[in-house]
Amino acid sequence: METVGLPGPPVNVRGYQRLFHAFGLTSRFEKGVTRWFYPKLLENLVFDSPALKVALCQPLDAFRLYLSKATLIVVPANLVDHWKTQIDKHVSAGQLRILVWTDNKKLSPHNLAWDYDVVITTFSRLSAEWNPRKKSPLIQVHWLRIMLDEGHTLGSSLSLTNKFQMAVSLTASSRWLLTGTPTPNTPNSQLSHLQPLLKFLHEEVYGDNLKFWEAGILRPFEAEIEEGRSRLLQLLQRYMICSRKKDLRMIPPCIKKSTYINFVPRHARSYNELVESVRRNILLADWNDPSHVESLLNSKQWKFRNATINNVRLSCCVAGHIKMTDAGQDIKETMDDLVEGGLDDSTFEYSSIQNCLISGCNCKRCGEWCRLPVITPCRHLLCLDCVALDSERCTFPGCGYLYEMQTLLARPENPNPKWPVPKDLIELQPSYNQDDWNPDWQSTSSSKVSYLYNINAVRNSHYPQHPRCTLQKSQAGQLLCWIE
Ligand SMILES: [Zn+2]
Ligand SMILES: [Zn+2]
Repeated sequence: METVGLPGPPVNVRGYQRLFHAFGLTSRFEKGVTRWFYPKLLENLVFDSPALKVALCQPLDAFRLYLSKATLIVVPANLVDHWKTQIDKHVSAGQLRILVWTDNKKLSPHNLAWDYDVVITTFSRLSAEWNPRKKSPLIQVHWLRIMLDEGHTLGSSLSLTNKFQMAVSLTASSRWLLTGTPTPNTPNSQLSHLQPLLKFLHEEVYGDNLKFWEAGILRPFEAEIEEGRSRLLQLLQRYMICSRKKDLRMIPPCIKKSTYINFVPRHARSYNELVESVRRNILLADWNDPSHVESLLNSKQWKFRNATINNVRLSCCVAGHIKMTDAGQDIKETMDDLVEGGLDDSTFEYSSIQNCLISGCNCKRCGEWCRLPVITPCRHLLCLDCVALDSERCTFPGCGYLYEMQTLLARPENPNPKWPVPKDLIELQPSYNQDDWNPDWQSTSSSKVSYLYNINAVRNSHYPQHPRCTLQKSQAGQLLCWIE
């Protein structure tokens, strides 16, 4: 309890006497100084001088903040509907006044603050609202709670974005940030992406002060010094609530069941085409020689090899195609070589070979479909299986044409050849510029989808009363479970 009296406010403010009187303080002039005393019989009143200083120094009309009990939820645009559906699902109709604000509509701060319980807006709206000269209505509301969904996007760019400045400037009693991936999964400096999130949360030490963060946590942590780790852990324990799937009791158990699915014919054909193109590349690189610099078997081609393996995996899930560009031009060169070797370009044979090289044909030896047939100098179109049977001569029945063999001397494309290879055969083949495997959901089929469609058709035959509706719903559910 103040007994000696206060000399006045800690700063010189005109007209403070009126305020002090309004609080019930009484003034006494003693020894040339005015001192202020609490009213007698008033107990437990403490004069908060710093707060008084703030209150007196800031003019009342500088900036008006509308107190609100509303929650502001900021989400990526694609999640707006999800929030709406979840609110509809879990809250009775009319219980919450909800505003979804995603467009350029002008809103007044008092409407925002007082007419709604929940305001949902997007990160792009948040960015667009940033204007250092004119305060956005979002800034003029003192929210009960702000929640950023997928809040790690604040940390994805370490530069000062509009979105970030806006998020930090919002005023609220509680600040929440919801994310499944607080930091990006990159090998280096993931930790620095955490600081913007702390700044949004108004974490007093490391969030508000970048230097403290760098010196106290970031640098020691990256230098693998224990101090950095333990400080980070303490910080996260204070600021983070982590719920893992296994902590939630409401999620039904995940039942995993592996089923081997046979290819449907169309999917099988598209898968085989991809495998064939990979085999063709390896065979034509000096007849499966790993020392050929461009072979997928060469250890230096690991990048393309990984891409190939990814493509093959993808092709197991859905049918697709390999985009082949500029194939026409290279095929023309092959055709010219054949003409030099005696093929008449006005014949049916000419156009037939050309078509086979462009869009595939059945192998002339075994009759199997072949997307990328190999043309021999003796003008036999063979599949990879058939051509690979013999590296020295054509395997077409009755032909036996002997290829011109490459000697075992070192060449730029193969510094260490393992075996002699059919030079003229390899050089004759057109090269195809191949893009990635393109799964085409609209126009091709997938063995997985066919399988799911069939089991659902069986299931739904037990529920004849709502056949269409049930089929669609459970099908969508199944797809989510099954497609990786
Ligand atoms: Zn064949
Ligand atoms: Zn032949």
